[in-house]
Amino acid sequence: MKALTWQDELQDSITSIKELKPLLQLNDKEVVRLEDIVKKHPFLITRYYMGLINPNDPLDPIRNIAIPSLEEISTSGVFDTSGELKSTKTPGLQHKYRQTALLLLTNRCGMYCRFCFRKRLVGVETKEILRNFDVAVDYIAEHHEINNVLISGGDPLILEAKLLGELLGKLSSIDHLKFIRIGTRIPVVLPNRIIKDPSLLSMFNRYSTPEKRVYVVTQFDHPREITPASTCAVHKLIRSGVIVSNQTTLLKGVNDDPVILADLQNNLTRIGAIPYYIFQCRPVKRVKSKFQLSLRKALDIVEEAKEMMNGHSKRFKFCMSHNAGKIEIIGTLGDDILFKFHQARDPEMLGRVFSVPVATSDGWLDDIDLTQKDMDELAS
Ligand code: SF4
Repeated sequence: MKALTWQDELQDSITSIKELKPLLQLNDKEVVRLEDIVKKHPFLITRYYMGLINPNDPLDPIRNIAIPSLEEISTSGVFDTSGELKSTKTPGLQHKYRQTALLLLTNRCGMYCRFCFRKRLVGVETKEILRNFDVAVDYIAEHHEINNVLISGGDPLILEAKLLGELLGKLSSIDHLKFIRIGTRIPVVLPNRIIKDPSLLSMFNRYSTPEKRVYVVTQFDHPREITPASTCAVHKLIRSGVIVSNQTTLLKGVNDDPVILADLQNNLTRIGAIPYYIFQCRPVKRVKSKFQLSLRKALDIVEEAKEMMNGHSKRFKFCMSHNAGKIEIIGTLGDDILFKFHQARDPEMLGRVFSVPVATSDGWLDDIDLTQKDMDELAS
């Protein structure tokens, strides 16, 4: 019998609530309501990732990541939390921070994570995706201040190696680009896409050179996602010559426990996916109510988890990816939380440290009731 390719595996994914019903013993009422939700935000899960879910636990963290829930009805929040539209220079190309260009290469993924901050565009019709490589490449070539590109989406590794190679080839030839990053959850949700495709690995080997490295930024969010298959995918990526790092989103009902979070970061270090960021969950519509923790709770969890990590595992920064910039959440100072601009839309703000009083329910900088004095301090 012919072996399944990764494309066959992807094709065989579960995409409807009806298919899900017998696997998770959903009742008819749930099916009707969830079907309504997935009309707005599509559902797709590979059989591999489905196999990681404990079907007998309705609160299973892996289930929370992948399976639509009734809490997605809540529309509190906004769809574009970090001002992506404002940063867009041409469809699919964003330039928010001086030195970085961001390309949205596709709206497709190997799974539609329920907490996705680009829920507004993944799996649905959108005009926000790059249509023409050359327009983006020309923009980057003309902007000498850009020294790195982040290729994102959707999930860029859903695309064929040949197409990705074409883009990497064009970007690699731009002298002022020092390195290229690719953000992906493919090693987590469809590891065979990496394991079974030597052409992808040889393409990485060709373009990740001693002079100009390709970084693959994975997103593992729970220790149970670190399986023999995902570990093998990370290993093959490393062997192909790319550098692998990881970003995790702190999510209620998934990794909001210091022991789980520490276990995740320690095991990522073990397999060679360097912990890079932990992100505060953004207040995205249909995400915020289910997944966002308060800033105080989130900070407590991160700090307690750090007590169980050595220096390598806690190299990450705990950040809020805000419209104003990437804001590091440093620690508490009495009733205040200390923040620092790690990246800033306005270069004047870079490196600025500020402290503001944060209420127990505040989950985002915009929730905080700032006095005029706080705002003056922030702007000074
Ligand atoms: S793979 Fe990434 S872009 Fe796609 S749904 Fe998940 S988090 Fe969003």
